[in-house]
Amino acid sequence: NDNGCTNESPYISSVLPGWFSEISPLWPGEAHSLKVEKILFQGKSDYQNVMVFQSSTYGKVLVLDGVIQLTERDECAYQEMIAHLPLCSIPNPKKVLVIGGGDGGVLREVSRHSSVEQIDICEIDKMVVEVSKQFFPDVAVGYEDPRVNLHIGDGVAFLKNVAAGTYDAVIVDSSDPIGPAQELFEKPFFDSIARALHPGGVVSTQAESIWLHMHIIEEIVANCRQIFKGSVNYAWTTVPTYPSGMIGFMLCST
Ligand code: SAM
Repeated sequence: NDNGCTNESPYISSVLPGWFSEISPLWPGEAHSLKVEKILFQGKSDYQNVMVFQSSTYGKVLVLDGVIQLTERDECAYQEMIAHLPLCSIPNPKKVLVIGGGDGGVLREVSRHSSVEQIDICEIDKMVVEVSKQFFPDVAVGYEDPRVNLHIGDGVAFLKNVAAGTYDAVIVDSSDPIGPAQELFEKPFFDSIARALHPGGVVSTQAESIWLHMHIIEEIVANCRQIFKGSVNYAWTTVPTYPSGMIGFMLCST
């Protein structure tokens, strides 16, 4: 077929048989590939296709709609940065909200902060939570912290119902802006985050790659400069299995 995939899984390459190739209009003309040892899970939730496979060099891999969300080998590079950058930038964060992040890895990192008293998470897709608990216990361990309250639902709707000034930090661990996460990159969503934050509070959002998505980043920066009256900064880290090998975070304070 025209995207170079086989019939057994739409995401296994027929060009490189036995390899997963990450093909998306968000990175046209390139496709990072990983050798597949075994497909462990394939399902379709109300929101997306969910797949887990055992790779030969990166451990188990979680894929949503054909896009790698995490691998066991390099997930730490992402989860630690998106969580500790905001939480180490303010004294004694107490109430933290995670939007997305259904795998539980960001929860695991947030729970390392002893000042934190309450960790709310709003993930749209309960299949992601269940699959992570089954296949990625070292990531989903974040759910075992008694401070964690899981809400299954749309993060946009959840934030609209949050009382103003509730959180010290909001962490948006979203997938890419195609599908259910699209609104998580738009200005009204950032407005709701600013409203939900306590004065002096911080937000950290998944903000894509400078090599591939400068137009998306420029729009996020422009929106955030209008909304957040404290600092507005872009941070980044290296994650070999994300497209272009790096990913950024938008870090803003009220
Ligand atoms: N670290 C990953 C990356 O950058 O590729 C993202 C991982 S995390 C698994 C992304 C999660 O955001 C997914 O589980 C997805 O279901 C969730 N998500 C997408 N749209 C959402 C929304 N509108 N509200 C809440 N969660 C959402």
